[in-house]
Amino acid sequence: MHEYSIVTALIEQCEQLAAKNNATAITRVEIKLGILSGVEPGLLSTAFDTFKLEGICRNSELIMQIQPLLVACNDCNKQTLHNERCVICSHCHSSNTNVLDGEDMMLMQLELEQE
Ligand SMILES: [Zn+2]
Repeated sequence: MHEYSIVTALIEQCEQLAAKNNATAITRVEIKLGILSGVEPGLLSTAFDTFKLEGICRNSELIMQIQPLLVACNDCNKQTLHNERCVICSHCHSSNTNVLDGEDMMLMQLELEQE
C-alpha cells in the first residue's frame, strides 16, 4: 500500500531528526497533508500506528493538518483555496493558474523528549 511506504519514510525522517537532536523519544509528529497528495488520512494514521511501534516514535501522536489546494491566478493575481481537485480561479474563472500548495505531504513539527 502507498501509505505504508510514505509512513516508513516519515518515521525514518523523524528518527534522523531525533538522533541529530539527541532525543530519546518523539511525543508528537505534526504533518501537513495536501488534499492532492494522494494520501488517504485514515490509512496514513493506521499505518503510522502500526509502524511506530518499532522505534523512537513508539509513543508519539500523529497530528495531520489537511492543506487545501492553493491556486494563484496569473490573470487577476488573486489566490483561491479549493477543497477539491480544481485549478480554476474563483474570482475571474480563469484556468491560467499555478498551484502553490496542497499537492504534497510535509513534516511540519516534532516534539522531542531529551534525557
Ligand atoms: Zn483570477
